[in-house]
Amino acid sequence: MGDIVRYGSGNDAVLRFVLYDVWGKRCYWCHRPTDFNAIQIDHLLPQQAGRDRLEELKTTYGLPDDFDIHDPANLAPICIDCNGRRGKSNDEYGPVPAFLSQLDKARQRRDTVIKQVKNIGLSTKITEHLLAASTANLHDARIREAFEEHAPAIVQRLALLDEKKVDFLTMWYVDTTIEDDKPLSVGLSLNARGRATAEILEGMCRISLEDVLQERVAELERQIRKYVHADLETIEAPAGPPTAGPPVTTFIRIDIDLLDYQNTGPALEFTFHGNFEASMSASLSQCGPDGGELLELQGDTVVFGTFSFVVSWHFSADHADVDRGECVIGTWESDTHTS
Ligand SMILES: [Zn+2]
Repeated sequence: MGDIVRYGSGNDAVLRFVLYDVWGKRCYWCHRPTDFNAIQIDHLLPQQAGRDRLEELKTTYGLPDDFDIHDPANLAPICIDCNGRRGKSNDEYGPVPAFLSQLDKARQRRDTVIKQVKNIGLSTKITEHLLAASTANLHDARIREAFEEHAPAIVQRLALLDEKKVDFLTMWYVDTTIEDDKPLSVGLSLNARGRATAEILEGMCRISLEDVLQERVAELERQIRKYVHADLETIEAPAGPPTAGPPVTTFIRIDIDLLDYQNTGPALEFTFHGNFEASMSASLSQCGPDGGELLELQGDTVVFGTFSFVVSWHFSADHADVDRGECVIGTWESDTHTS
């Protein structure tokens, strides 16, 4: 690996692994957790675009002239399915704020990606071997057999160093619905503590994870729409803040990444933490500068954030008697664009 970390400058396999890791082991396009072997490197601004088209895109997205499309600030991990769907000559990048927020994420992660690629380059032979093992293609029967035979020894040695280090995430989806019965699969990625908590919740308290998520997720989506509505009514428009219609959710992803419990004495308290991402649109209207003519605009918002909620189960209560606390939005980052 040379000094410069960019696509095509040396070991793209290492770059692919690091991008996969830094972007949360998932496809940046469909957001699904994905096996490393199904991950490819995607150029946000496409490498296939002709020079004129590239210049045009740089202008559209306000990027500097020397923007390097092979730099990690323009790279993200994509799954094979999405890469195929997106197509090699596809001009579809979605709404401007959605695309800009992807570029923003890549820019924020750039330094970490470069540092990790360099660290792997500087490290010893063992890193190379462990990397090869952790990215091995387990669909190949012979590789899989060897992996199953020797991998447990690695896990055991790690446990000898510190048993807390031997943890892993299991990922699955729970089907829920949001407004208008729109289906939404909520992703759960839980470590050992999270899995144990889910077992207590379902096994001991007889509270179904599906029921809890169904109800809280619908509430969370309602809250996000409410916040977006408020955001849209404060934007700068030609004649002052507009009046916004009800926002419509065009895309939403909700993931739970932490589940824990606490015994408070009279009750068990289950805490859920997660993150979300959504695109919403609403019609905006305002009076013209002279107070007469009505201006119609569309507002598009892309929002990211974190949330949490608590579910309590009282030892003295009926099984059905569950206290579902409010959904609290933690961080909130939004990009709004009018057209
Ligand atoms: Zn995908």
